[in-house]
Amino acid sequence: MQRDNLVFDLIRKELERQRHGIELIASENFTSLQVMQAMGSVMTNKYAEGYPGRRYYGGCEIVDQTEQLAIDRLKQVFKLEYANVQPHSGAQANAAVALACLQPGDPILGLDLSMGGHLTHGSAVNYSGKLYTPHFYGVVRETGLVDYEMLEQKARAEKPKLIICGASAYSRDWDYARIRKVADEVGALVMADIAHPAGLIAKGLLSDPFDHCHIVTSTTHKTLRGPRGGIIMIRKDFENPWGHKDPKGNIRMMSSLIDLAVFPGIQGGPLEHVIAAKAVAFGEILSDDFTAYAKQVVENAQAMAKAFREKEYNIISNGTDNHLLLIDLRNKNISGKKAEQVLVQADITANKNMVPFDDKSAFVTSGIRVGVPAITSRGMKAEHMQFVVNAIDNVLMNADDANVVGAVRKQVNEFMTQFALYPELG
Ligand code: PLP
Repeated sequence: MQRDNLVFDLIRKELERQRHGIELIASENFTSLQVMQAMGSVMTNKYAEGYPGRRYYGGCEIVDQTEQLAIDRLKQVFKLEYANVQPHSGAQANAAVALACLQPGDPILGLDLSMGGHLTHGSAVNYSGKLYTPHFYGVVRETGLVDYEMLEQKARAEKPKLIICGASAYSRDWDYARIRKVADEVGALVMADIAHPAGLIAKGLLSDPFDHCHIVTSTTHKTLRGPRGGIIMIRKDFENPWGHKDPKGNIRMMSSLIDLAVFPGIQGGPLEHVIAAKAVAFGEILSDDFTAYAKQVVENAQAMAKAFREKEYNIISNGTDNHLLLIDLRNKNISGKKAEQVLVQADITANKNMVPFDDKSAFVTSGIRVGVPAITSRGMKAEHMQFVVNAIDNVLMNADDANVVGAVRKQVNEFMTQFALYPELG
């Protein structure tokens, strides 16, 4: 077969784009070469509906081993009794938990999308807001911190079956114990979606949700630095509270309901090439190198916050505990949309983001979200954050001056040559 130059030329161009630019999208990262090699492997050819040791297809002896490795390593990372590594993405992980725990129409309670929550936490345009009855808590206007009083009031008033904590654009730690307390009071299960900070939680740099939340989901491609995908985890497995029984008449454990919800509930064949890559990534997370990486992420985020504050940028909650910052640009007279567009012209990638109590639409927004997981993987340290912030500030303050933006782009490209990315790829 002829090589598909069209596609491979584009892949090459994407590599060059990644090499030249400053990647600040908080949900992105650069996996190791061996993670990518596992993903681009013959494992993609194998159908393996079911779970290791109990598949619906023959020839699964090898993928059983890679999947089991992924499960065992993930259990070791977070000290778990149960892990499911099959969800194709974070959204799929959340959908499977919803299918396992909820009936159509059941009330759920999550952080409002416009306050930093995720689509799958009850948004009207998502299955979670269409199939279930969503209620939301927000953040406190003055502090930008999660409004736990509002969460408690809503929980008592609406009696949700599932309380979801975790966020896509929230720079502070969570009080999981407080959420569990009110959940127990109203008879709700708690799901923590740690898609964003999972890598920092893995290394003990943020509060541990596992002892307080019944079920924890995550993506694998953000701070965990693995392939794109999802996972579902339980530290202490428990009997399902609804009395669902298996064919032998035994009450099913929650883990068994989740396995059934992933397959055959919402997915068919697992992506065994991605699962092999997850196994590689989880092995990397267990290493001391990853401990150093996670610490550097937090250090870089705090150094970046300081540099932004010195230039009078308004950071929601005035700082960060994790890997990201949410910046309100209203005092800088530029919208999130414009900021995103002009930064791209300087080879700096960040995303526009609504800020709490935003007066602009989700398409325009008043803010940008910036994260350091990817630039930390490139090798940047705290001392490099000043360059990044200077470059951003220069672009945003001269957004209509193509000469300035072009000059910053040159500086950015030159600066990035010191941080090699996949040198093995030539
Ligand atoms: N949950 C949270 C908190 C997220 O931020 C995201 C993605 O950004 C997801 C779930 C969904 O993950 P995916 O894009 O892999 O479906």
